[in-house]
Order: sequence, then C-alpha cells, then structure tokens
Amino acid sequence: MKREFWFVVGSQFLYGPEVLEIVDSRAKEIAEDLTEALPYPVVYKVTAKTGREITDVVREANYREECAGIITWCHTFSPSKMWIDGLRDLQKPWCHFATQYNREIPNDEIDMDFMNLNQAAHGDREHGFIGARLRKPRKIIAGYWKDEKVRRRIGDWMRTAVGAAVSREMKVMRFGDNMREVAVTEGDKVEAQNRLGWQVNTWAVGDLVLEMNAVTEAEIDALMAEYEASYDVATDDIGAIRYQAREEIAIRRMMDREGCRAFSNTFQDLYGMEQLPGLASQHLMSLGYGYGGEGDWKVSAMTAIMKAMGEGGNGASAFMEDYTYHLVEGQEYSLGAHMLEVCPSLASGRPRIETHHLGIGMNEKDPARLVFEGKAGSAIVASLIDMGGRLRLIVQDIECVKPILPMPNLPVARVMWRAMPDLTTGVECWITAGGAHHTVLSYDVSAEMMRDWARIMDIEFVHITKDTTPEKLE
Ligand code: MN
Repeated sequence: MKREFWFVVGSQFLYGPEVLEIVDSRAKEIAEDLTEALPYPVVYKVTAKTGREITDVVREANYREECAGIITWCHTFSPSKMWIDGLRDLQKPWCHFATQYNREIPNDEIDMDFMNLNQAAHGDREHGFIGARLRKPRKIIAGYWKDEKVRRRIGDWMRTAVGAAVSREMKVMRFGDNMREVAVTEGDKVEAQNRLGWQVNTWAVGDLVLEMNAVTEAEIDALMAEYEASYDVATDDIGAIRYQAREEIAIRRMMDREGCRAFSNTFQDLYGMEQLPGLASQHLMSLGYGYGGEGDWKVSAMTAIMKAMGEGGNGASAFMEDYTYHLVEGQEYSLGAHMLEVCPSLASGRPRIETHHLGIGMNEKDPARLVFEGKAGSAIVASLIDMGGRLRLIVQDIECVKPILPMPNLPVARVMWRAMPDLTTGVECWITAGGAHHTVLSYDVSAEMMRDWARIMDIEFVHITKDTTPEKLE
C-alpha cells in the first residue's frame, strides 16, 4: 500500500491574512523538502485556524487508509483549546515536530512583525501542553527541519508509524497449535487483536498438504531458479530442496489468499509432510513474511512488523532464539540460531543450502535449510510477552560479532552477540523482565523505534541498555 504522512500546521486569525499566507507557503515548502529526504511523502494539508478545521483533518486522517500518521507544528501561536476535540478523536500516530522556519535570529531584520510570524518557540509549548494534558501518545522531535539528524529521526518515526499500521492490518496463519506445555509462546489472542490489531487464526496442516500436492513441477522449477540465484547449493539431495520449494509455494499461496503476512507452525504437527519447512520458511522471511517456530504467533507477527519497519520496508530483522552461551572470561557471547528457520537478511555472506538429519519432530526426510553466519554490528533483540491483562515488549541492545568459532558441525545458520550491559547482567535483566527465548533480532530497527511503537500501541516497554542493572530494572 502507498503510505503518506499529513502535515498539519497550527495558527489562528489574530495575525491577519498576510501572515497566514506566508505560513501556508512555508508549510508547503517544508513538506515538499521533507518529502525529498524522507522514506514516505509528507503531504501538507492545512494551516488550521479553527477547531472545525482541526477536527475535519483529523477525521479524514482517521478514515484514509493511506494516511499513516500526522505531523503537527505551530509556526505561530495556536491556542490549544481548539485542538482538544480533534486530538481526542485522533486514531493515527502523532508526531509533534517542534521546529522553526528560520535557523538563525536575523540581527538586523528582527522586529515585532518578525516576532509575530516566527513564534514556534512558544506556539509549540502551548501545543505540547495540550498533548500532555490529554495524555495523548505522541512523538516529540525538536530541531531544525533541514538538519540531517532531525530528518533521520522523523524518518525513523515514520517507519515506526508504518509498523503500527502493519500491526493493525496483521493476519497470522497458524498451522498447528503451540508446542505442548510451553508457556511463553501462549497468549490472549483476543487481547492481541484488541490492542495490536492482529487476527490470529488456525488452518489445518491437512489443508496445507492438499495445497502442496497441487503445486506443479513447473512452479517448483521457477522457485528453484530463484534459490540458485541467491544461494549456493551445497547438497546432492536436490529432491529435498524441491520439496521445500513445494512447501513454500503452498504456504505462500494460502497466506496470500487469506491476506496473511505471517505464519507459525510446529514440528509436533507435520502430519502428511516429509520435512519441517526450513529453506521454505527462510525464503518466505526474506520476502517480508513473519515466522515463528513452535506455534509462536507473537514472534511471527513481530517479525513481519519489524521487517516492515526496516530499510526499504523489508529490513534485516529475523526470528531468533537464544541457544547457548560461551562463558569464557573476556569472550562472553550468546549463540543464537534455530532448528532451521533463520532469515537470510542477517547473513554476512552468501548462504548455502544444506540438508541434514533433524531428530526433532516427524521429519521423514532430511530437511533442506540455509546455513550462514550473521553479520557483525549493533542490533537489538525484541520479545513480546503476555503478562495476563497486559502485553510487555522487552528490547535489549546487543553487539553482534563474527562468530568466534567456525563450528563446522553445526548444521544451521548462527548469529553470535554480546548482550548489554554484559552477558550475565544482561541475562539477569532479561530473565527478570520475563523475556522469551524467541526474539526478533534486528540490525536496522532501533530501540527508540520500538519504544515509540510500544507507545503508539499502548503496551509496556522495557529497554535493557549498557546502563541497566537488575536493581534499576525491578
Ligand atoms: Mn524455538
């Protein structure tokens, strides 16, 4: 979907028509300039002088699907009582951009006319008060509109608002239930829909098998060509790869038919299938679909949302699981992986397609999967948990490294990282907060974006940083 953001400028009639004309033309100029620099267009809608103009634009913003949020700014003073009705009705994400048209105070030119026209410094304070008074979730970004750093922050907020829109549209296709007895992958699906917009429903594995049987050899040939273009084939078992292609085509067909953007399955329910989808799930994730193993529909939806929040609308974010630690002093690292399903958007090089025995689950044949090392760099891991009556998003800053060991017998993709503030304190904080073993690992969605997303969705947010201690966290 084409998405855009609406620019709404606050003013009033007090200053006369000449001032309002200047405000109008400058608002247009700023919107056009920001559109050039930002990931989504900024559409200037109105310089509002009355409560009616504000409620009109807010109602239209709520109604129009393409509007992913509004950006407000007060070039002049805009009395805030006239904003109350509109802001109370606002259902889209809101960014209050506290900027001003001129960068400098012009020494010779400044007089009372200049002061009347350029009073964002107090106009934005009046505007900020009403946001605080109404307890409206909002992102506040202050700074000059031409500054690179300011623009990057607006761009990040835009991606976050798009993440909120993707969340509200989210449909998750579940094959099989959650893994038996596991607690953290469970959750209140009614509350998830109420709060986050997710529609989470189940389809039969038998229906997937029927869909797989209907896939043609020609369709498999076409997908095989895509695999070969992106990955090295490092197995003689071409049949296993073709089987994964058959699974991928069938899963994708069922998801697209239902408008689903994420799916989950479980190794405990593969009745009629020869392999747990490995390469199939990995390639679907690379296309932007969310995935969660062991029936984990929460991490599946979060993967899809965080992918959509990343670079180009499909960033380097992936379903991940904390597997094992390296606890040597000075070399303390977590090793993350999964049974098969790690998204190749994390890969540092060209992934290899391999086939190996998988003892867990009902695999009649050795599943094909992509094997690679994760990239080095700063990243986050995020986990959404259901606390019973409320949802909590936990984000931890991590530093990924090139895996310090080659691990030649490990038959899956792997990522190695150091959690903040350090491995053991980070583990203590994560466990204190109740974070899951399943996460979304992302290189290009920041903790600030996830905090803003949690604020828009009105859920709890916990951030474990280089400065966090278990005491402070409690
Ligand atoms: Mn798992």
